[in-house]
Amino acid sequence: SLQATLIDGKAVAASVRAEITARAGRLFAETGRKPGLAVVLVGEDPASQVYVRNKDKAAAACGFHSVKHTLPADTAEADLLALVAALNADEAIHGILVQLPLPGHIDEGKVLRLIRPEKDVDGFHPVNVGLLATGDREQALVPCTPAGSLVLLKRTLDRPLAGLDAVVIGRSNIVGKPMAQLLLAESCTVTIAHSRTRNLPDVVRRADIVVAAVGRPEMVRGDWIKPGATVIDVGINRVPDPARGGDATRLVGDVAFAEAAAHAGAITPVPGGVGPMTIAMLMANTLTAARRLLGLAPEP
Ligand code: NDP
Repeated sequence: SLQATLIDGKAVAASVRAEITARAGRLFAETGRKPGLAVVLVGEDPASQVYVRNKDKAAAACGFHSVKHTLPADTAEADLLALVAALNADEAIHGILVQLPLPGHIDEGKVLRLIRPEKDVDGFHPVNVGLLATGDREQALVPCTPAGSLVLLKRTLDRPLAGLDAVVIGRSNIVGKPMAQLLLAESCTVTIAHSRTRNLPDVVRRADIVVAAVGRPEMVRGDWIKPGATVIDVGINRVPDPARGGDATRLVGDVAFAEAAAHAGAITPVPGGVGPMTIAMLMANTLTAARRLLGLAPEP
């Protein structure tokens, strides 16, 4: 029986995007410049194609200048590096996003390190990772999924996050680690759990805030959740849906939703939770990057 408040990521993302659209409009009125986003896709991974299309569409809907570069799967590393260098130098472009994963013959780290940190709207460049880690969030570009998760947490909890016990499950560079840094910067007591963590259920039972970023369908069970805790489910897993028969599938998170919702104070659904926030935060990062590159003061 659901008792938790449902955290409506779709609605929050829509309001963030409306705000960004308005701010981009003011920027254009004041400077004649639009935030410019370049999204680069190498190869034909179907999930990546969907992500790239959605990012490009969202940028256009926010009134941004948006360009999409689609390169064949056998693109030479040198050619991709040359494209990134050209985008680094392009004054109409303020944000560069190279969709991951890249084909195996390309050194991902080499490509990410070539992106100008000021244009690194994914927040994966070591300079941005370092700025977040040293507490200089105001100068950093922060990875979109953790940034979006934090927005949802702040809007849900009607008290400061300081002092709360937060458990992040997963330690990837894309989600787990930057999520932990953001919660630490909010003065949570942060635990990072991973595949080698002993007695994960007991670790999670301590948490006032649970962020699950594992990639294992419904791994986090209801009785792991401390009564009243806030649960952010980052996982996106496609599983068979026998109820609909045939080859039907459905999306589930890393948290067993119905069980967890009987214990949690608030919880994100999958889909419709963290997912929509990721693209909204990409738009926010692109606008932030544009204002900084144009030498404008940060907005309140
Ligand atoms: P990774 O595979 O890079 O990382 C998964 C993490 O989970 C690893 O740190 C791993 O530990 C840990 N892990 C694996 N098994 C267990 C276990 N049994 N117990 C505890 N920890 C475990 O995934 P990502 O961080 O990239 O993504 C995580 C999930 O979030 C995926 O479902 C992905 O689809 C989704 N996602 C959603 C996004 C969105 O927009 N909503 C954006 C990005 C990702 P170890 O390090 O020890 O191997």
